[in-house]
Amino acid sequence: MPTTDKYVLEQYGGEADADRVQSLLPDFPYAEGCLGLVRTICEHLLSGLITPLTIGIYFVDSDSISCRVQSQGNDRFVVVMPLGVLVRLRTLIRLLLQYWGRKEPSMEIMHSPLDDYSESEWTVPRLLRPLFGTYDHDGPSSFWSDLAELDRKLALGPDGEREMGEMLHLAIVHMFGHEITHALAHHFDLRTADTLSDLLARHKMTLTEFKKGIELHADAGASYISIVTLLGQVGAELPPDSYKLAFHRFGYMTTLIYGLYDPQCKYLYGYKNNEYTHPIVRRQLAVEAMSSTLESVSPLLKESFDNTWTIGYSDCMDALKDLNIDCFLGKFGPVDFTKPTFPVHIGVGGPFSYTYVDEEVNVARDVLRRFSELASSFNQLASR
Ligand SMILES: [Zn+2]
Repeated sequence: MPTTDKYVLEQYGGEADADRVQSLLPDFPYAEGCLGLVRTICEHLLSGLITPLTIGIYFVDSDSISCRVQSQGNDRFVVVMPLGVLVRLRTLIRLLLQYWGRKEPSMEIMHSPLDDYSESEWTVPRLLRPLFGTYDHDGPSSFWSDLAELDRKLALGPDGEREMGEMLHLAIVHMFGHEITHALAHHFDLRTADTLSDLLARHKMTLTEFKKGIELHADAGASYISIVTLLGQVGAELPPDSYKLAFHRFGYMTTLIYGLYDPQCKYLYGYKNNEYTHPIVRRQLAVEAMSSTLESVSPLLKESFDNTWTIGYSDCMDALKDLNIDCFLGKFGPVDFTKPTFPVHIGVGGPFSYTYVDEEVNVARDVLRRFSELASSFNQLASR
């Protein structure tokens, strides 16, 4: 490992070596293998670039929930995934898989826009805090022991554990893929370009749209990397039906990831001035990017994907709804009914009808299109 990488890793808790990773994920012996796979895919993508750059990819020993990419100059980048991300994903997958295959109709709990509560008054049931709650880092954090306590309550059969492994593998590739895209697509150069204001004017973008464009572009890159990885592992020549389970998992996994990062399912318009876009919209664009990557390989695969990912999406949403019911039944700790308890994905303050979501998806799609044009004209100029 280059010494400069070591320096960067120290800021994020230091590199988590194989033994440390294994001690936290004894039932997922593939974590190091996934890291190796991501490194290999990344090398492959880098080999196609005109300007040479290098990317170091690591797990770091931290309970943070955010993956990061840092530029070190001289075309060297470091991408990190904290163990906090890895273990949260694993436990969330195990938690939701408890509801796998349940056939009862799901009930949705909605928070009314007329409820007179501010977000700061919401409480997460005690056992779910390590997934959806927050920890302050002033003193020693109980995150690891809290997560272990929740995890011990979850039991999966051998099929469930295998399914957890498959989903976690997909999630790791997707989340590293997002950060790697920031480096591969020269987002750092773009952000600091002298010509940025000219570019924004020429492509009629505000700075906020530009920042949203960067994140949506990284999501699309993550989707591309996810699909390329799948096809790299199993090939693209099998009958389209053979990919159904994988596509179902992609639908489930993308819903789960964006669910983890927005447990409350925030107000649809709550991201107007944020560099991120609403997770529900991000998820839609991420699956569209998967679909269009497949289209370039085979229209039949694209069709199979389009018909299947939505089933995975519905299964994950049903699991989140069932989880809410169990929260109110006190399964994850006592509920104080004098306070607004939010488990997950309560549509707050509406409107979450498909029409409104579709409108926002259209807006984001347009931002992504204009950003992609801006980025390719910048990269063309830079490579001259
Ligand atoms: Zn990002």
